[in-house]
Parts: sequence; structure tokens; C-alpha cells
Amino acid sequence: MTELPRLPSAGGCRDTPILKQRGQREVFCGLTGIIWLHRKMQDAFFLVIGSRTCAHLLQSAAGVMIFAEPRFGTAILEETDLAGLADAQDELDKVVNELLARRPDIKQLFLVGSCPSEVIKLDLAKAAERMSQTHAPHVRVLNFSGSGIETTFTQGEDACLASMVPVLPKDDQRQLLLVGALPDVVEEQAIGLLEAMGIGPIKVLPAPRATDDLGVGSGTVYALTQPFLGDTHDALTRRGARHLPAPFPFGEEGTTQWLAAIATEFGVAPDLFEQVTAAPRARARKAISQASENLRGKSVFFFPDSQLEIPLARFLTRECSMDAIEVSAPFIHKGIVGPDLDMLASGPTISEGQDVDLQLDRARDARPDLIVCGLGLANPLEAEGLATKWAIELVFTPVHFYEQAGDLAGLFSRPIRRAETLKLNSVSFDEKYRGDVGAGPHAGPQ
Ligand code: SF4
Repeated sequence: MTELPRLPSAGGCRDTPILKQRGQREVFCGLTGIIWLHRKMQDAFFLVIGSRTCAHLLQSAAGVMIFAEPRFGTAILEETDLAGLADAQDELDKVVNELLARRPDIKQLFLVGSCPSEVIKLDLAKAAERMSQTHAPHVRVLNFSGSGIETTFTQGEDACLASMVPVLPKDDQRQLLLVGALPDVVEEQAIGLLEAMGIGPIKVLPAPRATDDLGVGSGTVYALTQPFLGDTHDALTRRGARHLPAPFPFGEEGTTQWLAAIATEFGVAPDLFEQVTAAPRARARKAISQASENLRGKSVFFFPDSQLEIPLARFLTRECSMDAIEVSAPFIHKGIVGPDLDMLASGPTISEGQDVDLQLDRARDARPDLIVCGLGLANPLEAEGLATKWAIELVFTPVHFYEQAGDLAGLFSRPIRRAETLKLNSVSFDEKYRGDVGAGPHAGPQ
């Protein structure tokens, strides 16, 4: 190998006109992010200031935690708070004081806003500032919004990480920061590959503990591991850190390009890059080829939901030979997904935002082999005979980097296989029974 892998220079979708729509949307709210964030940050507690609906959402999505000491909870706004009859700030102080007295293990407390707290304009930034003064230096209190008003579910993680950046200590040493909450095993794989190339020191945001040695400054270069971290990206840039734009590490090609962007920054020799990546690349290619057999030549339509849509469309079209009809994302930040757009062959409609009825009409007209969409749309579309993949599953499942590339392809091939099996079964049922029933008044299965 004489040079590191390079991005294709032309022919992608970066300059494709974007269809922008602002109408009714079908998405989960940002509270969803707490479900994976609380597992990553071992001394954090997420206190949602919300309604019983918010509590139900969290409890049903992460219900197993009721058997352990949970790291999230809901301070429920009662009618007196909502009507302004009680001072919600006083009430909140009481709840937080009780919580911190009972749980000395909490070192970072996030006050998480919701639709109700936003509607009554409860100032959680003011509350976090006041509580930080009261409980410093043992507990750091921050706030972010997980509200479902004008947001989509992955923005919860973005808002959480962005809230942490301004309070990170200044550190101008040369370092690589990996940004985004990944399952531990996946994060370890990424760090292992980078360290094998001699890259370091490597830090991660979010760090597992508040006391971990994590600072940011002019020597920091950062690579995003998730495409939905726009606010965090802006916050890090404001702290003097520099972004390394790259395709996201989905599939063999995306992972190689993501690693190559970092390797180039750190002056890794092409031969060393080849030596470190050759075996996992070959494994990934083989796994994708096996898992994507029934994806080849099939069409896919993305509704806007997780913000992973553009990198995933790049993976499915280039590595699994699918045809993308429409690739839709809640927000398109070209500074973040530009390299993936460069690699996505022109052809599909690229759309931002949603007017759900109009988009459903487009999907019904296109009759794609697979629709990637939120939970709320999946069942009705399945009832219309369309195969769907729940977008939220792509955030809950380990899908990044080489070793998970086959599983990623498998997540898309399973619903298509199921739809094909159902179709086959219904054809044989029709042949066996309905054809006979239609043959005459006395015909039927014997
Ligand atoms: S934050 Fe809003 S959308 Fe989310 S559960 Fe609470 S009320 Fe529902």
C-alpha cells in the first residue's frame, strides 16, 4: 500500500437539490437517548422534569432498571406546578436534595427538560446553575432538553453531550477525541485499531465517569461516531477543537474511510494502516457479502428518524447493491454527512424534514422492497404489504466498525426475507385452498 484510502472526488449527492418539507412528523422525543446514555455514564443520573407520559416512556423502554438502583427518574410536574400555583423551582430543589442525599454515588446530575417543562417555561439552566453552586465540588449539575417539540429522538444524546462541552477543563495537548456513545465492546474495537496504528492519546466523550481525565482545547482533533451530533460538533469547535470530517464507520468501506481520515491526521504510514486493517476488512467484506445476498437489486426508502439515514444509504447502495429511492433525514448538516453524500451515487431524492402524508404517498407510489422508518409508521405500512425496518433498532444495536458490518447488513435483510417468506406462504395457501374455493360451489380442500 503506497497511500491511505481516499474518498471518491465526484459524482455523489452533495450538490443534489434537497427537498425540504415542514409538516406533521412522526418521531420519538429526545428522552429516548437516556436509555443508552445512562449505561455509558456510570456516575450520572438523568432527572427528567416531565409528566407521567415521560415517566411511562422511560420506564417501558428501559424497564429492567427497576430491579437495580436506577440512574434515571422523573420528577413529575403536578397540576399545581403546571398551573403556576406552586414554585416549581422550590419543588425541584427539594427533589434534588433528597435524591443526592440518598445517592452519594451520583457525580453528574442532568436535569432533563420535556414538553411540559418547556411549555411552562421552567428555567432548567437557572436551576442547574443554582444547584451546581450548592452541590459543588461533589456533583456537577447540567441541563438539556429531551422534549419532543421540534426534535427527533437522537437529539437527546446530542443535547446531553453538548451540555457537557462548556464545562470540560481546558487542555491544549495534542489528542484524539472520539465523540458519541457507543456500546463498550464497539468502542474498544475502535480504540484498539487506532492504538495499533500508534495513535494517541485517545479520549472519549461521553467519558464513563465525571472524574475521568477529559479536557478539550486547541490540540484536540475529534471524530464523530454518530451523525446526529451537530450541536456537540459546534460546541467543540467553539472550544478550539478541530473536526475530522469523514464518512461514518458503517460497513467495511465507511469504517476504512473513517479510520483513514484519522490516520492521515496523525501521519500513519500506509503500510502500517494496511497491516492493521487488512484482516478485519476482509472479515467485514465476507460477512457483508453473506448477509446481503437477498438485498442485491432491492430498493430502499428512508423516512426521516434517526439521522443515520444518509450514511446507511451509502452503506446499503455501495456495499449491499441496493437502490435508494428516497433518503430522508430530519436535518442535513453537510459539515457532518458531506463525506457520506459524496459517496452516495446520485439518483435518490434527498429530503430533509417531513410532511408525513405527502411522504407516505411517495412511498406508496414507489412500493420499495424495504422502508426504514419510525415505529409509528412501521405497523400501518406492514399492513399495506410493505416490508419495514424500525430505525430506532439501528441506534440500539451495535452496528459500527468492521466486526459489526455483517450484523448491520443482516438487520436490513431480515425484514425482506420475512416479507418474501410471507408472500410465498400466502401464494401456496391461495394455490392450495382459495383456488379450489373459487372453482365451484362444492369445491374446497379435501
Ligand atoms: S418529552 Fe414530550 S414527547 Fe417525550 S414523553 Fe414527555 S411529553 Fe411525550
